Amino acid sequence: MANTYQKAVIIGAGPAGLTAAYELLQRSNIKPVVLEASDQVGGLARTVNYKGNRIDLGGHRFFSKSDWVMDWWTNILPIEARHDGEQIVSYQGKSRAVEGDKSGPTPDAQDNIMLVRNRRSRIYFRRQFFDYPISLSVDTLMKMGLINTILTGFSFIKSQVSPVRPEKSLEDFFTNRFGKHLYKTFFQSYTEKVWGVPCSVIDASWGAQRVKGLDVAKLIKHAFNKIFVKSHDVKQKGTEVSLIERFLYPKHGPGQLWEYVTDKVNEEGGSVTLHKEVQEVITANNKVEAVVVKDMMTGQTETIKSDYFISSMPVRDLMQAMTPKPPADVMEIANGLIYRDFITVGLLIDKLKVSEGHPQSGQLIKDNWIYIQEPDVALGRLQLFNNWSPYLVSDPSKVWLGLEYFCTEGDELWNKSDKEMELFAIDELDKIGIIDKAGVLDYTVIHAKKAYPAYFGTYDRFDELRHYLDSFSNLFLIGRNGMHRYNNQDHSMLTALAAVENIVSGVITKDNIWEVNTEAEYHEEKTASEDKVAAGKA
Ligand SMILES: Cc1cc2nc3c(=O)[nH]c(=O)nc-3n(C[C@H](O)[C@H](O)[C@H](O)COP(=O)(O)OP(=O)(O)OC[C@H]3O[C@@H](n4cnc5c(N)ncnc54)[C@H](O)[C@@H]3O)c2cc1C
Repeated sequence: MANTYQKAVIIGAGPAGLTAAYELLQRSNIKPVVLEASDQVGGLARTVNYKGNRIDLGGHRFFSKSDWVMDWWTNILPIEARHDGEQIVSYQGKSRAVEGDKSGPTPDAQDNIMLVRNRRSRIYFRRQFFDYPISLSVDTLMKMGLINTILTGFSFIKSQVSPVRPEKSLEDFFTNRFGKHLYKTFFQSYTEKVWGVPCSVIDASWGAQRVKGLDVAKLIKHAFNKIFVKSHDVKQKGTEVSLIERFLYPKHGPGQLWEYVTDKVNEEGGSVTLHKEVQEVITANNKVEAVVVKDMMTGQTETIKSDYFISSMPVRDLMQAMTPKPPADVMEIANGLIYRDFITVGLLIDKLKVSEGHPQSGQLIKDNWIYIQEPDVALGRLQLFNNWSPYLVSDPSKVWLGLEYFCTEGDELWNKSDKEMELFAIDELDKIGIIDKAGVLDYTVIHAKKAYPAYFGTYDRFDELRHYLDSFSNLFLIGRNGMHRYNNQDHSMLTALAAVENIVSGVITKDNIWEVNTEAEYHEEKTASEDKVAAGKA
């Protein structure tokens, strides 16, 4: 080991913080001390248990193009054995999920297990279901009607002949790839619900990050492949992120995996403590010296010194906690960072008003989630937890839903009491014809702060802030809000890995952490560091 350091304070027990703690224990003798402000581990990927019915905030697919991440997850929770004759091709040389393996663990016999789930998500618009992403199939065109189909074709041709240049906003991004008409029909309302601002003021880089290589040509190709080609590779390399059709999922939701990792960190000599909020970050001479931590149960504070500090707390909060205060110009950027917050209303009901197949079949629709594109309701997305994992629902004869609302802390939605929110959500779902409100059996309301770091506000000056924070040699920013990036778990984990590798090898520059990019293909024969370099170049 190149250094003699013994302790690393890790702020936040979400996927990034817990991965950092676990990896430090595997790769060094540095003790990870994880401080978590809330009463639960898992961060945004926690599972909330309400009377035996479990809620996954947002619905977390476990899917990554990184072999390192896929192997990490399935080393923690092995993949279920398949008894339906289906073969899962992947993970060469590994005992789990080898081709045709039917002898592994099953979810009925074992709790710590990854299920293999089929994905279906659709768009609900004009009280009808459309494929997501839009497949431009005959069904879609028929539902859109002749006039809309013609308008879609013409506006797509126009977007190809004279694309918007320079491509500045998310509206430009969507229009250039799908044409204005398709963008307005299927992307605008939902995206604006998520961000609370028009797509014209959101930076185009958001599209590049999330919609990635998707365009009309790929939608047509995908519709074709869906009919003629069947993929059995859980990793599905070469498939664009929005098109992934299968994914791994812990039996009891994403939080189950992170709770298990927490146990391992505690067993292996690290510590993960709940109710510990980092409120002050004391710096001197381009180093972080200590953090002041408040115990949210007792109100007592303590100062913890450390050799290294790995932070997954929101960048804005981190900057505001720094003592002495950072210079005014970087504080201005930090204070101008914007987040969107999130409310999930869990609803237990007898049955939906919409069915799979024939309208009267009574069969539960197979969607994991549905994008609500209807502009006359605030509801953004609907989760059907039964379809994520049947084990999330305590009575499988009931339907356990998550109604997702995007909002901003302190706005009208955020400030509604739980009772008001429940009535509001039930009315909306009844209004668009998905449930009959008389059939609601139970409900719960969950608020999640800073679910989405926004790519507007002062984000265009983020690099200045980054360079300021990178100048603290023993401070490593990781994860979603920790780096103000709209990232999934895999990306958050890879940034944690990069930070740990830097610490272990005595590297104090942070460029490789910022360069982590999950679009890169990771290969098992390469070392993790080589993976990182490849990732940065992709
Ligand atoms: C709606 C939605 C859907 C998503 N779907 C997917 C998906 O399908 N697949 C996927 O892989 N990812 C998905 N994600 C992304 C995933 O949730 C995040 O990438 C991941 O949780 C980020 O991990 P993190 O550790 O960086 O941050 P977080 O999960 O935000 O964890 C940070 C932790 O730090 C704690 N903390 C904050 N401030 C302090 C402080 N001052 N002191 C101590 N602790 C503090 C927080 O309480 C939290 O527990 C989704 C996210 C959302 C919101």
